[in-house]
Amino acid sequence: MAAAALVVGSWVGLGKPSYEQGSAWAEKTGSEALARTGAAKALAVKAAPVETADGGADLPSSVTETDSQPDERVALPHETDPASVPAMEPWPSLNPEADLQKAWLLAEGPARKPKSGRRLVTLTFDDGPFLETTPAVLKLLARYKVHATFFAVGQYLEGEDKRSRVTRNLLKRVVDEGHLVGNHTLDHQLLTTISHTRVLEQIDRSAAAIERATGKYPYLFRPPYGQLDDFGRKAAQERHLDLMLWSVEARDMVRDDPQEMFRDLMGQLVYKEGGIVLLHDIRFSSVATLRELLAWLKLHKYDPQKPSRPGYEIVDLPTYLRETQAAPMPYANREELDKARERAHDKSRPPAAPESRRVSRR
Ligand SMILES: [Zn+2]
Repeated sequence: MAAAALVVGSWVGLGKPSYEQGSAWAEKTGSEALARTGAAKALAVKAAPVETADGGADLPSSVTETDSQPDERVALPHETDPASVPAMEPWPSLNPEADLQKAWLLAEGPARKPKSGRRLVTLTFDDGPFLETTPAVLKLLARYKVHATFFAVGQYLEGEDKRSRVTRNLLKRVVDEGHLVGNHTLDHQLLTTISHTRVLEQIDRSAAAIERATGKYPYLFRPPYGQLDDFGRKAAQERHLDLMLWSVEARDMVRDDPQEMFRDLMGQLVYKEGGIVLLHDIRFSSVATLRELLAWLKLHKYDPQKPSRPGYEIVDLPTYLRETQAAPMPYANREELDKARERAHDKSRPPAAPESRRVSRR
C-alpha cells in the first residue's frame, strides 16, 4: 500500500507528478496494485479471472460479480424510463475556448436560486474502465437509477489480447447503460510536461480507442490532474472537446478508508451546495465510498414539495451543464466564488468569541 501510495502520491491535483511517476503508474496499474489495498480484502471480492474461454465476447461472470451484494437483477435506468437516458450528441459548449479557469468555475455548477434548497450533484469516474471494479460501480448506479460520466484512459482498450477485448466490451456496456464516456488521455500523462507530439498522441489515440469500443467519438475531455497548458488548450479547442473538471473530490487515489472519504465528500457537498464529484472506478475502496455516498444522497434527496429545504438531486452531466448555462455563477473565477462562499459562511455562523473565531478562519 505504501508503494502504491508512493507511485500515485501526487494524484488528483495534489501536486505535479514527475514524468517518471506517471509512467510508473501506467506500468504498475493492475490487480496486483489493487490487491494491496485493505479495502479490497474488506469487501471480500472474489478473485476475478480476466481470461475467458471464448475470447471475451461476453464479460466473464466472475468479473461482473465484483460487488459483494446478492445478485438480484436490477432494472437498468433505460429499461424503466427510456427518457432518463441523456442525449449523447454534443450540446452547446459552455466553454468553446477550452479555458481552464472557466472550466474550474463551470464545474461548480449553476447559481442557486435564493431560498431554493435544490442542490445538483453529478458523478464522474476517472482512470478506468477496470474489469475488477467498474462493474461494481455500474451495479450501484443502476440500483439507484442514476447516470454518471466515465473518463476513460485508452491504454486498457487498445490491445488485441483478451483482457483488452473484455475491457472494450465493458466500456460499451457503460454506454449501453446510459452513461457518458469522456477521454482522459491514453495513459494518464501530465500533458504540460511532455512534447507537443505526445500531447496530441495522448488525446487522439485514446479518442480512437474509446470510439472503437463504444462507436462514439468522446467529446468530453478531462486532462489528468486537471492541468493543461496553452498547447493542450488549443488542441482541445480544435477538436471541439468539452473540457470537464470537477469541484468535489475524495482524493481516493491516495486514501483507502471509505468512511473517511465519504465524510469528506459529504462535507464538501454540504459546503459547496452540490457539485461535480470525482471518484476513480479502479479501486475497491472507491466503490465502497460510492455506496455510502449514494445512500446518503438518497436519504437527503431534494423534495419539490418542500422547495426551501436543502436536498440533493443526482443529475447527468448534460443536465448539470444545461442548468449551469441557464444560471451561471456571477464570478470571474473559482477564487472569487471561494471568497464569496467564505463570506456567506462567516455571516451564517453564530457570533463566536474572538479567539475561537480566529482559530476557525482558514
Ligand atoms: Zn485521472
